[in-house]
Amino acid sequence: MMPTETQKQLKITENAAKKLAKLNIQTAWDLALHLPLRYEDETHVMPIADAPLGVPCQVEGTVLFQEVQFRPRRQLVVRIADHSGSVLHLRFIHFYPSHQKQLAEGKRIRAVGEIKHGFFGDEMIHPKIRDAENSGLAESLTPVYPTVNGLTQPNLRRMIQTALDSLPLHDTLPDDLLGRLNLPHLAESLRLLHAPPPELTVQQLSDGTLPAWQRLKFDELLAQQLSMRLARQKRISGEAKPLNGDGSLSLRLLNALPFALTQAQQRVVGEIRADLAHTYPMHRLLQGDVGSGKTIVAALAALTAIEADTQVAVMAPTEILAEQHFIKFKQWFEPLGLNVAWLSGSQRKKAKDQNKTAVSDGLAHITVGTHALFQDDVQFHNLGLVIVDEQHRFGVAQRLALKNKGCDVHQLMMSATPIPRTLAMSFFADLDVSVIDELPPNRTPIKTRLVNSARRAEVEGFVLATCRKGQQAYWVCPLIEESETLQLQTATDTLAVLQQALPELKIGLVHGRMKAAEKAGIMSEFSAGRLNVLVATTVIEVGVDVPNASLMVIEHAERMGLAQLHQLRGRVGRGAAASACVLLFSEPLSELAKARLKVIYEHTDGFEIARQDLNIRGPGEFLGARQSGVPMLRFANLEEDLQLLEKARELAPQLIDHHPATVTAHLNRWLASRESYLGV
Ligand code: ADP
Ligand code: MG
Repeated sequence: MMPTETQKQLKITENAAKKLAKLNIQTAWDLALHLPLRYEDETHVMPIADAPLGVPCQVEGTVLFQEVQFRPRRQLVVRIADHSGSVLHLRFIHFYPSHQKQLAEGKRIRAVGEIKHGFFGDEMIHPKIRDAENSGLAESLTPVYPTVNGLTQPNLRRMIQTALDSLPLHDTLPDDLLGRLNLPHLAESLRLLHAPPPELTVQQLSDGTLPAWQRLKFDELLAQQLSMRLARQKRISGEAKPLNGDGSLSLRLLNALPFALTQAQQRVVGEIRADLAHTYPMHRLLQGDVGSGKTIVAALAALTAIEADTQVAVMAPTEILAEQHFIKFKQWFEPLGLNVAWLSGSQRKKAKDQNKTAVSDGLAHITVGTHALFQDDVQFHNLGLVIVDEQHRFGVAQRLALKNKGCDVHQLMMSATPIPRTLAMSFFADLDVSVIDELPPNRTPIKTRLVNSARRAEVEGFVLATCRKGQQAYWVCPLIEESETLQLQTATDTLAVLQQALPELKIGLVHGRMKAAEKAGIMSEFSAGRLNVLVATTVIEVGVDVPNASLMVIEHAERMGLAQLHQLRGRVGRGAAASACVLLFSEPLSELAKARLKVIYEHTDGFEIARQDLNIRGPGEFLGARQSGVPMLRFANLEEDLQLLEKARELAPQLIDHHPATVTAHLNRWLASRESYLGV
């Protein structure tokens, strides 16, 4: 919370300081940088008769009538009329005696709000009220700030003004630079945005291209770029054991594989090996669309580390996925004489203890598991490389645990969710990125079909036909987020319905509530081809790899996000047979659902899908900001402000090299009390 000194200086009460803390405001600078969400125009009054519907406006009139009504609920209803005689209703669902007093019959008041057609005719709900007898019209636009309950706009406005007056608002950026960038001074920009001059309109102020806004956005982007760069410098000045493998194990694995690496795979393997040879920790993200073959790349990285006499940990977000990796790595590594260990949360204590000992004695060359791998009591003998699959699915806590385990180990993160360039440039600036931009050969493209759920019987017929050809199918149950019990119920119902409709097929079920061993059992039955159809909740979303499965049916596809649909669809099309994905949907479809289904129908390229997803949802949602703990930008917008971002990116290293004092000052202003960008 705000230090008492600052509170005193800014004349802020203890109580207000608590509210400010909720807004993440702890310093005078935080207040100065707390910028309006929008502006209200209270500079003139509209005749009620001319006031437009649905847009904010101000009217003035005399109260004709006031009543507390109880139907349909307790509310205060007021009728006013202006000099032209037009009448308007004001309605308050929450009100205090002070409202009733302020709105007594005969009082002349001004009301600011949006007029709507209501039950009583035209009305404003919860307008802002001002006494017209004792207060003049505002001279300039009124800023409206983001706030919390109990902290009023006038109060915030006053505190912000005090902060602005008390701060040395001198610029951190040198004048010649501002001139080159064509940006105004910070002081001028802040004053303008907090107290706009009378000549500016709401429209002008809401337009992000206003020079004052550009300046603030630039400063924000610059702060982000600077802190990312510094984080990178810090990492690079750290120490890690350089892992120079002699390539002997890798070569043996490559020779044993039934396929040759694609060009793209070879390239990224090279990039990773170069990183591992450094004396500072690698921090690399391996991106590749679903099915692009990231696992073998990870395996080769692991072998490089093992050749250099260090241990490797492979962490996956779910037990199913971790188990798949475990099986795969065993199959690849045991013939090379290596020990592959397994650690998961659901493991029995005895087995777990045994594995932990193998890990701490250094007997286990590679350990695969869920985040159980990074619990406190797991000690590695000589950990050199950590591989994290589906990195974006891990929460902040898990990533922190990993980080604490050894800041100085090399990290390889893998993700099938492509990060658009702008995001990569801003939020992942401390990650080096390798991209597998080529699918293994001989993949047949997946046909996607959108089918109304009324035609479910036809889809069942299609499943039968597919399985009669010796291929296999997934049937994904609808996602029910509200309740795990309902989700389970739906899954068992779906199984029963399918078994009845398709008695000749062997159908298995896998869901999130099953024990890991049970799940693994069913999965291996399906992998081995002993089940024709696998009914699943979305637990199969990531990583499952059964090349003989060529049909994916997804029920209630309209409920799923784009990334999830793309991941699910990527479970098929892995073998030589032509594959299909049937998206069953139920009407009515929301606009969002329609937009998503259109994208997934039209596109198969994961990068394009992610780009469209970003368009539909915006970057905050896209990143799952809250879960990932990535601090979002407040003012700049990655789509609109790309040019500013590029300028900030270009400038950041120059400032760090030549103007270290500017860097410190800038970061102090922007990030002093904010969650650090340097975090996880
Ligand atoms: P993902 O990138 O989604 O994790 P996987 O690593 O599971 O993809 O690989 C998908 C499938 O492609 C696996 O069956 C894998 O063995 C196979 N595969 C990987 N690389 C190649 C390649 N170069 N040629 C042929 N098949 C490959
Ligand atoms: Mg994978």
